[in-house]
Amino acid sequence: MNHNNNKNQNQIPQKQEQKKPLKVNRTIVLTRESADGIITFAKSWHPNEGILILRGQHLHKKGLVRIDGLVVPPFASHGPYYSGFPNYDLPFDLSYVGTAHSHPGGTNRPSLQDLNNFFGLVSIIVSFPYDDNCIGAFDRNGRSLALIIS
Ligand SMILES: [Zn+2]
Repeated sequence: MNHNNNKNQNQIPQKQEQKKPLKVNRTIVLTRESADGIITFAKSWHPNEGILILRGQHLHKKGLVRIDGLVVPPFASHGPYYSGFPNYDLPFDLSYVGTAHSHPGGTNRPSLQDLNNFFGLVSIIVSFPYDDNCIGAFDRNGRSLALIIS
């Protein structure tokens, strides 16, 4: 018998460690009033983009971001393909959880520029013709987040 069989000795068995991508699993809850406010704002700026700041709470344990308020950002610019506001003019406010803006044409997917200007935890985009079905919520990687309007 060969007792010097080193094979497999002291070798840590390779665990089948599946590298799971860090899941954010964030669900966005939009109050009915906030959803209506975003829709009305988007319509009023059409055919230009409109942008709003979202106020709410991040409920970490539930994995929820609840949005229950809208703030018109100071010094916002609005164009057919771009809307934005200078972040540096915003007061530091923990109740600002993200932004909502409109896409007068096309889809509610975030553009590269949207992702580069991401602010907060969530970006809500509403596309023409601006109803509940046109509202999308995205994280800073552009991944779609579950959205509940209630
Ligand atoms: Zn956009």
